[in-house]
Formats: sequence, C-alpha cells, structure tokens
Amino acid sequence: MTQNAECPQNGRLEDTYKRHINYLRISITDRCNLKCIYCTPKGRIQKLPHSDILRYEEITRIATIGAKLGITKVRITGGEPFVRKGCVSFLEKMVGIQGIEDISVTTNGIVLEKHLEHLHDIGIKRLNISLDTLDSEKYARITGQRGFDRVWSAIVAALKKGFSPIKINVVALKGINDNELKNLAALTLDYPFHVRFIEQMPYFGPGLVENKTPLTETDIRSIIAPLGDLLHCTESRRRGPATRYRIKGAPGEIGFISPVSHHFCRWCNRLRLSADGWLRSCLLSDIVTDIKTPLRNDATDAELAREIIAAVEKKPLEKSEAGQNARCGSRMFAIGG
Ligand code: SAM
Repeated sequence: MTQNAECPQNGRLEDTYKRHINYLRISITDRCNLKCIYCTPKGRIQKLPHSDILRYEEITRIATIGAKLGITKVRITGGEPFVRKGCVSFLEKMVGIQGIEDISVTTNGIVLEKHLEHLHDIGIKRLNISLDTLDSEKYARITGQRGFDRVWSAIVAALKKGFSPIKINVVALKGINDNELKNLAALTLDYPFHVRFIEQMPYFGPGLVENKTPLTETDIRSIIAPLGDLLHCTESRRRGPATRYRIKGAPGEIGFISPVSHHFCRWCNRLRLSADGWLRSCLLSDIVTDIKTPLRNDATDAELAREIIAAVEKKPLEKSEAGQNARCGSRMFAIGG
C-alpha cells in the first residue's frame, strides 16, 4: 500500500447488520465467448470501452486494500475470465496478495484446459465450471456454441490434475434441461464433483429466456429424488450460498443455490467488483459505489479503503430492503454471478 490504510475495523469488515464480509467477487471482463440464453440480453450487446475496464494493476490494488480490511476470499469471474489476455498472470499476482487465503475462478471451461497446468502451478485449486447439460446438441442451443466436448475434456483434465473442489454450476432451465437434472446430479455418484443447481434468476434484464416461473429448489429436489436421499453435509454449512448434500456413498456433493425461493441474504458475506470499477453491495439490487473514479484520481489507499467500507455499509439486509431496485437492471454477464 502506498499510504497507511489503517484498518478501522481490526481486520474484520462488518456491515450494518453485523454480517462479516470477507468475500470479494471480481469480474475482470464483460466479454464472453458464449451467449447463454439465460445470461445474455437480446439484441446487440453494448460492450464496455476498454478504457472503462479496470487494469489488472488497479484490480490488484483494490484487492490488496480489501485484504487489509479483512477480505480473505476472492473469486474471479466475468464475462469469461479466460478471454481476457493475461488472466493467468494476473491470477498469479492475486495469489501473492497477503491475507487472501482462497482464490477461485468461475469459468465456462471453453478455453480452460490449456491453462490448467499454469493454474495448478500458481496454486489455484478451486474451479467453478458452468455446464447446464450433458448433451452436446443442447449445449449448443443453450450457449450458442458447439463446445460441450471441450468443456467436458477440461473438467476431466482438471480432475486428473487434482483440482478440488471442482464445482459444476447448473442453471435449472424449465423445459430445457429439467429432464437432465437427474443425470447431472448422478455425476456425483461417479466423480467427486460438487454439482450445484442454481435457480434461474429473472432479475437481470431481458435475457433471451424470460422465465417467469423458474424451477425452484423444491422442483429440482423432486426431479433428482429417485437417486436416493440427500444427506446434509454437516461441515461448514454456510461457507457459501449453497446448501450442500451428498447421496449416501457418493464421492461428490449436490448443492442448491436458491436465490428465488430461499434468499440467502442472511448469510451474505460478499461484495462484488465489476469490470468497470463499481463496487456492488448486493447482487439483487443496484446499490453501487464508484471506486474507479477515486482510483484514477490519485486517491490514497486510505481513501480507497473508505470506499470499500462505504460499499459494505450500504449492503441491504435483504432483497426486499433494496426496495424498487430489487429487480436488478444490470446484466448477469456484466456482474459475473
Ligand atoms: N463465464 C463464466 C461462467 O460461465 O461460469 C463466469 C460468468 S457467469 C455470469 C457466472 C455464473 O452466473 C454462471 O455459473 C452462470 O451459470 C450464472 N448465471 C448467469 N445468468 C444466470 C441467471 N439468469 N440465473 C442464475 N444463474 C445465472
């Protein structure tokens, strides 16, 4: 840090509701090599000008200040993080930040395999890979790309290399992949994957699939019920928004992320940084803090620390408190999930 950004909260960032905020999700690009039907808006996508996108040094500076304030966990997301040039070298710098204990990446896996070796070498262990179907034709329909084989090959290669956990994010899409959810859950019987079913969020502007009645956790549970009882994973139930289970004897886990039917606001421990330098206090609302302007106007580390604290203090207790902003107008591909 260039100046002494004294941590005003003794290394523990707390919001107004005494939630401990230690997790920063960083979107490093709004660009993506897929156009998933639930994520990409209709029509021409207005891309951020390059000058608006935070440079890697700017992101690492914010993360370093965040770490001094008590951020210990970082997830890199996008857009698709691996389409941004220099992503792995940037990750290497992030791994070196003192205080950040856990760095993971959320990716669609399309260009992941060629980076696995390097990721492994720099100490990245955890991967979240989005895969909504095991059918390559359907994959092309959902994502707009023929990429299933590449993603599956990357998942298998990551497993062989020892990445753990490998989380497979599945957005449950009514009428599209509901007939496959059982097979996706059954992966956990054969592999140590954490398959996480995500309720489709309708909040993020006009996606190509406007689903007014998304599949809920209850629906998903009944679809996968024939596989057997789900046993609660007792360890660290609230390490994230997912509730975690295991089918008896399975090496893998099943999780549910249910922002539609069960808000997880009570356990929210996170702050988001968008590719263009906005700190977002809550996924489900548009409460944002501009950190890029002070960053580019020679703010000291202490001043930037105050922006981070301000963003934490603005966190609403829950979605309803976000008021009319509760239907977030921003697009998921720009926020990064
Ligand atoms: N490109 C990367 C990927 O595909 O994983 C990272 C960005 S993507 C926006 C991050 C996560 O958001 C993915 O797991 C994706 O499935 C999820 N997501 C996107 N739109 C969603 C929606 N409408 N509802 C629920 N999850 C969504």
